[in-house]
Amino acid sequence: MTDPTPLPPTEVMPSVVQAGLRGLCPRCGKPTLFAKAIKFADRCSACGLDFTQFNVGDGPAAFLTLILGTIVVIGAIMLELTLHPPLWLHMLIWIPVTLAGVIWSLRLAKGALMSAEFRNAAREGRIDPRP
Ligand SMILES: [Zn+2]
Repeated sequence: MTDPTPLPPTEVMPSVVQAGLRGLCPRCGKPTLFAKAIKFADRCSACGLDFTQFNVGDGPAAFLTLILGTIVVIGAIMLELTLHPPLWLHMLIWIPVTLAGVIWSLRLAKGALMSAEFRNAAREGRIDPRP
């Protein structure tokens, strides 16, 4: 087991954006962050960083639901008003677009938040002892 302590930024460590876009480990930069589509792996298979010590919570899901829902609804309304396609065509278009958008945006947001937590050594509920 390796030391889970965050290290100062190095040239190996990916940026927050790179980690989010490509699912990179925030410490070693290898694409090991996700075990499944939107589920984090327990630890990095390359450097051993324990991903379970970080908690990105449900913040990304709630925020992305509002953004993605708005985009999909606006697209569906614009398609309906311009081409008047049948209902089955709307479903054929918007269900896969929504699923792909949810998976892609959740991976992006969760990966970026995990990387930001690692870089800033964020932990739950610490009280600063300084006066
Ligand atoms: Zn790693």
